Amino acid sequence: MMDDQALLRYSRQIMLPEVDIEGQERLRGAHAVIIGAGGLGSPAALYLAAAGVGRITLVDADHVELSNLQRQIAHQQASLGLNKARSAQQRLEALNPECQVVAIERHAEGELLAELVASAQVVLDCTDRFSSRYAINAATQRAGVPLVSGAAIRFSGQLAVFDPRQPDSPCYACLYPPEEGEDEALSCAESGVMAPLVGLIGCFQAVEAFKLLSGAGEAHQGLSAFDGLSGQWRHFQVPRDPACPVCGGRD
Ligand SMILES: [Zn+2]
Repeated sequence: MMDDQALLRYSRQIMLPEVDIEGQERLRGAHAVIIGAGGLGSPAALYLAAAGVGRITLVDADHVELSNLQRQIAHQQASLGLNKARSAQQRLEALNPECQVVAIERHAEGELLAELVASAQVVLDCTDRFSSRYAINAATQRAGVPLVSGAAIRFSGQLAVFDPRQPDSPCYACLYPPEEGEDEALSCAESGVMAPLVGLIGCFQAVEAFKLLSGAGEAHQGLSAFDGLSGQWRHFQVPRDPACPVCGGRD
């Protein structure tokens, strides 16, 4: 049961009938794995910790650099040189001591990735490498855990939710077949990115994770793409590909 402090802390959410005490308790009992503690992972982690997700695991092998501070808002000047997962962990614990935060200072791959995904109720892909995206997608499909995928580059951002528990839900590889995706891998380091754009997409990921964990509303369908220069959103249907090498054999 939540004590008076928790009831007060989360009162503006508990008063939402779609969340209520039950939804807030579900958040508290939940484990979110956030892979990448950079531009997308920063706002996603901060909002999920503030909202009362009980357990958050942050995974990042990189260290905070000066060029990160323009957009990776979980880190600050004093965090320069620190591992990003560790830096964000400190920030989250300062924000909400009720949230249990684990920092994994390694790349999420292989056995580690499989174990992390299997222990989560939701996984947020906040990375910027195609190889990581495919590995995370495959791991979430194998474990049957929903994946909230975000991407941001230059002035453009994207969001999609892949939930293998839903028979019609596609996976990341249905959307971007591996042979097409590998070559067009772009990173913010090479292409640049507008600071608040990563905040927008990271928050959108937090919204979807919040709903999946609390039971409020319904998961986002298809692909949403935002063009920051025009301020326009576009929405695309993403059908499941029966020949997909990752989810094609799924029931
Ligand atoms: Zn697929």
